[in-house]
Amino acid sequence: MGINLTAETKVIKNIPTICSFCSNGCGMFVRTKGKEPLGVIPIINHPISEGRLCHRGWNRFQNLRSLNRILRPRLHDGNQVKEVSWTEALNKVAEIISNLLNAFGPQSIGVIGSPCLTNEDNFLLSIFAKTILKTNNLDGSYRFGGAMALEALERVYSSPLGSLGLISDLPNSPAILVVENSALRDFSPVGSRVIQGAIGGTTIVLADPMVRHCEHFYSLHLPYSLENLSHLFDEESAIPPEIRGKFNLPNCSVIFVADQVRPALSLIAFLTAFLEQLPASGKLLKIFPLSRSPNLRGAWDMGVKPGKYGLSISEMLAPESKIKGLLIFGDDLITHLPSAAMIEKVKNLEFLLVVDRFNTETSRFAHITLPLPLLAESEGTMTNCEGRVQMLRPVLSPRGESRSLMEVLGELALKLGSSLPYSSLSELRDAIGTTIPGYQIINELKNLD
Ligand code: SF4
Repeated sequence: MGINLTAETKVIKNIPTICSFCSNGCGMFVRTKGKEPLGVIPIINHPISEGRLCHRGWNRFQNLRSLNRILRPRLHDGNQVKEVSWTEALNKVAEIISNLLNAFGPQSIGVIGSPCLTNEDNFLLSIFAKTILKTNNLDGSYRFGGAMALEALERVYSSPLGSLGLISDLPNSPAILVVENSALRDFSPVGSRVIQGAIGGTTIVLADPMVRHCEHFYSLHLPYSLENLSHLFDEESAIPPEIRGKFNLPNCSVIFVADQVRPALSLIAFLTAFLEQLPASGKLLKIFPLSRSPNLRGAWDMGVKPGKYGLSISEMLAPESKIKGLLIFGDDLITHLPSAAMIEKVKNLEFLLVVDRFNTETSRFAHITLPLPLLAESEGTMTNCEGRVQMLRPVLSPRGESRSLMEVLGELALKLGSSLPYSSLSELRDAIGTTIPGYQIINELKNLD
C-alpha cells in the first residue's frame, strides 16, 4: 500500500530557537517534519551553549505531543466536565469575575503567573491584574522556590557589588563555588564549562552535604548546605589558605540551583558573610542562579510579584485570607504548595480558573479550564539565568483550540467592559522595552525577526 505523503508532511525544516526546559536557554534547531518534531540539533555558535545540550534538551522535544493536553475550553461542575466554545467559556469567566468584583471588591481576586510563560505573557498578565481587575494580588508558585533566590539577590546586590555571570565566562573564573552537585549534573552545559575551567587551572569547591565521593575536578569538598556555609566562611580553619586566596581574586563564581533556596534568608546570610570575608577585588563575584523553570528571571522582571499592598501567594492562601477567586496561568500551583491547609484553600475557592497546557493536579479542581499553546507552539522571549533575553520561536503548530494569552486576556478584558492597552506583540514589546530596565534589547530581537 502506498504511503500518502502530503506536501506538508514532506517538508523538513530546522527552526532556530532556544530550549525551554531550564533557565540556561541553550540554542538549538528543532527539526520538524510537517507538524511533528523529529529531533534537535545544537547551535554550534550559540553564545550560551556553544553546541552543548543536556539530556533534557536532546530528548524532550520528541515527546512534546503529550496526550495530557487541555485541548478545548471546559466547564467543570463536580465530576461533570463539559467542553464548550471559547465564547461560552469566556462569558462565564467574565460573569463570575464581575460578580466577585461587585460583591467583594478587587482584593477578593488573586492572579498567579508563571516562570513557564514568556516575558510577554507575564508582562500582560501583570497589566491585566493591575489595570483591568485592579488587584495587586499577583504572585507565582515560584515564591516557594526560585523567586526566593531572586529576592535575596536583589537585597544583597542593591549596591553595585557583583552581578549575574555569563556561562561562557565560567572557565575564566579563578575559583568557582558550586552549591550542590546537582547544579552541575542537571545543568550539564554549565557543568561542562566548570570542568573546562578545572582543566585550565580554576579552583572548584563543592558544598554539598549529600555527596560522599567527590568527582576528581573538585579541589575541596565542604559537606555543608547553603544555610551552614555562612558560618563556615567565618572560620579561618575551614578553608585552606591557598583556596581562600583564590576567592580574593576578581570574577570568581558561585553556582547554585535557585529553586532549592529556601528561605531567602539562607542565601542572604551566606552571600553577606561570604562578601564580608572577601577583599574589594573578590567582591566582584559572578552569581549563577540556575533554575529548572525556563523563565524564572523573566517572570520576576515582568512583575509577577505582589504590587503595593498586594498579597503574596502565602497570604492569598492563608486561613484568614478573603480571596474568593484565583486565576492561575501556566502553573500547577497545588503541586508547589508547602502545606495541606493551602491546598484545601485552593480546592474550596469560590472560583478557580486554570489557563494551562496540560491537565494537572490543579486543573482537577478548577471550575473553568482554558487551553494555552505550549512554549514550542508560541512566539515570545525568555530571560535566562544570566539575564540574557532571547527569542523563542514557534516550532510546532498549536493543538486543539488553544489560544495565546494575549487573545484570551484581550477578549476577557473586553467582556469586563475594558480593554488592554496593547493589541499586538510588537506593541507589547515596545512597552516592555521602555518600562522594564534592561529590556531595551527586546525591541532589537523583534527587529531581527
Ligand atoms: S541545560 Fe537547560 S536549556 Fe540547556 S539543553 Fe538542558 S534543559 Fe535545555
